[in-house]
This record gives sequence, structure tokens and C-alpha cells, in this order.
Amino acid sequence: MATSFSGNAKAEICRYIPAKHCCALAECFGILLFCNSFQGDNIRIITESREFAQILPKLFKRAFGVAFDQMPNDATTGKLVFQITDQEKIHRIMTCYGFDAKDTLSLHINLPVVEEDCCKASFLKGAFLAGGSVTDPAKGYHMEFTTTHSSVARECDSLLQESIGFQPKYTVRGGNRVLYLKQSDLISDCLTYLGAHISAMGIMEAKLEKELNNKVNRRCNCDDANTSKVVEAAQEQLSAIRILRENGAFQNLPAKLQQAACAREENPEASLSELAVLMQPPISKPAMNHRLQKLVQLSQEEK
Ligand SMILES: [Zn+2]
Repeated sequence: MATSFSGNAKAEICRYIPAKHCCALAECFGILLFCNSFQGDNIRIITESREFAQILPKLFKRAFGVAFDQMPNDATTGKLVFQITDQEKIHRIMTCYGFDAKDTLSLHINLPVVEEDCCKASFLKGAFLAGGSVTDPAKGYHMEFTTTHSSVARECDSLLQESIGFQPKYTVRGGNRVLYLKQSDLISDCLTYLGAHISAMGIMEAKLEKELNNKVNRRCNCDDANTSKVVEAAQEQLSAIRILRENGAFQNLPAKLQQAACAREENPEASLSELAVLMQPPISKPAMNHRLQKLVQLSQEEK
């Protein structure tokens, strides 16, 4: 199965399971508030990340001493579904966060749970694992956290600002609240903060590569444009000189113009500055341009 950029970032984050109970509790809190369903009668977490699926039961065990009622088996492919429906287990989990299982309409980020810095990071890791994604930088810069709870989105907004130092953008999409980042350096910083260092570097590398390509393209286009302009001008001058020679006007031209014409004929690809120094005595580039323009003009009068 092809792994996505997002899948790789999640795999990196999952390499580390928090050792401290406070952090396990905070990571699970992030998971629960950003997962598919966290309600009084049902907890449902759906993921496509095998790595996340592997650590999820361990995390719940460490945080609450609770096992899932429904879990995917090893043969399951695609979406992996974890569920808890046992009322007692749900009650136990809710109480850990100071919630009442009978009243889950106003779920919010219970601040004491994320008070310590270690727990803030753990919470955001959980939020990203359950409700986050990051786009392959080759396709564009986009990272988001999605939750169904509006107050959670608001509180997570300030949590991100507090811990990473910048504010994500906010939008509502089909009943979901979405916090998102669009700037490559912010996405990279955020991934670093979450512990996905390789993915963070991937973003910066993609950015550098894009900048380099743009620079090279700009230079090529610029060179091409200049080169073709020079060639076109030289062609026009050469055909003007040929006309003047053919109709016998050439030998009546002032010496200065004859000299300029000969220099051009002998150096069809030379630039104006190169031709200018061949004149006797050497002249300036604008003066050289003037002489060649004069030849073109005379040939047109001859027609
Ligand atoms: Zn902690």
C-alpha cells in the first residue's frame, strides 16, 4: 500500500508513546476531541494509519486502563475502526477529563489536562493523529486539524498559538471546524513540534527545490528572450546590408556605415558591444546601434 505524506508524518509521531501518565492522558484527550465520535454512548475512532492503530490500544490502556470494545484485526485494510460502547468505560474516560457522560454537548479542552508543556505537545499530537492531515508539499502547502466541536476548535487555536507561536486559519467545512496552515515554514515548524522531524524537513526541501526551479526557469526564459532578440536584430541588419549591396547603394554609403556593415557581415552573431569595439576608432554601443539602424532604414528606403 502506498503511504501518503500525511501517513508518513503520523507514523513518525507514533514512534514515541508518552511515558508519563499526564502526557498519555493529554494525548488521548487530543485523540478523543478530534476523532469521529466522542459521546456519552459511543466513542469511535477511525483511522487509515496502521502505526496509529498500533499504539492506540496501548495509549488507552496507559491513560485509563481501558480496552476497546471493537478493534480492527490484522487483516483489516483501508479504514480501521476502534469503538467503545460500554457505558462504564465511557463514564471512566469522561470523568478523567471532568466531563459528565450524560452531558457531552459542550465538550471543551479542559485546561488543567494540558497545563504542562509536555502535555500540550501530547495533546496536539493526539489531535493531529485523530483529526489531522498534511498535504504532500509537491502538491501544495496545507496542514489541518479537524474537530466536530466548535469550542474545541477555538481553544485549540489559542493552544497552538501558545505552544508554537502562530495562529492557524479557521473555517467550517460540512459541520466540521477546521484549523489550518498554508505557509510552508509554519507547517514545517508545526511538524517539528509534533515530533515529525523527517516530514518537517521534507516540507523545507520541497520549498527549496521549488525556489531553485523557479530561479532556473526565470533565468532560462530571460536568456532565451535576449538571445532571440539579438539574433532577430542581426538577421534584419544582414538582410538590409544585402539589399544595399545588391542595388549598388553600398559603395555610396559613408565610410562609417560601410565599416559597420562589414563588421556585422563578418560577425553575424556578435552583440552590439562586441561590434562597437571593432570600429576604427572604437565607438559606444548606442553609436553602433545607431549605425546599424541607419543601414536598416536606408535599405527600406531603397525598396
Ligand atoms: Zn505531560
